[in-house]
Amino acid sequence: MNANEILNNIETVRRRIISACKKSGRNPDSVRLLLAVKTVEPEKIRVAVEAGETLIGENKIQEFAEKNSALSDLKYEKHFIGHLQTNKLKDIVKYEINCVQSLDRLELACKLDRRMQDVGRSIDVMVQVNTSFEKSKFGLEPDSVNPFLKKLKQYETLNVKGFMTIGLFDSDSENVRPSYTRLREIRDSAVSEGLVHAGCELSMGMSGDLETAIEEGATIIRVGSAIFGTRLYSNK
Ligand SMILES: *Cc1c(COP(=O)(O)O)cnc(C)c1O
Repeated sequence: MNANEILNNIETVRRRIISACKKSGRNPDSVRLLLAVKTVEPEKIRVAVEAGETLIGENKIQEFAEKNSALSDLKYEKHFIGHLQTNKLKDIVKYEINCVQSLDRLELACKLDRRMQDVGRSIDVMVQVNTSFEKSKFGLEPDSVNPFLKKLKQYETLNVKGFMTIGLFDSDSENVRPSYTRLREIRDSAVSEGLVHAGCELSMGMSGDLETAIEEGATIIRVGSAIFGTRLYSNK
């Protein structure tokens, strides 16, 4: 992907967001586009940020480390969207990550809170839910979300912003839809128990199914390949 292709792809994704919002009677401003940039070189991320994109998500702390200095002159919001190991928490502070979308266990919440206490700040978090019941996926079981939210209250440095899910791995977006419906229902249940506020975030939807996610209420969609092309994984 060269710079022009990236810019065209962003345009295309933005148009997809607008038409999906129209279809479901939503305001396009109610959906934020997060660029999922795993394996994407900093120069390409720069193209997108200079074109006005403000929300970047990484799956690995190591990639924040590699790209941070190359992009240090740019302002954008950094979200962590991968599996987070507790031995990486000091790097959450070091690389000034704004939000951890993948909070999926109490041990992580406890240690993240302790780290934030140590440095005297707070951090946004989202609760990752396994809505597809696939064994390989991280995230809480739907039934354990509300009890988890109750326990999170004790960690004062964690601002719970909403919920994140990775839908069923399936190229037919209609097969993915129930995952997204489930996350919306999980949010509604948490709202009705007074555990989160009604307007809280639903981070769901990727390149292949962002329309479906928007119809089900996504407020953040996470898009990688539709903008940066198919990922090439080196085996270093
Ligand atoms: C890679 C990734 C995405 C984006 O996937 P695409 O299909 O490339 O759009 C979204 N969310 C997470 C957690 C990812 O790891």
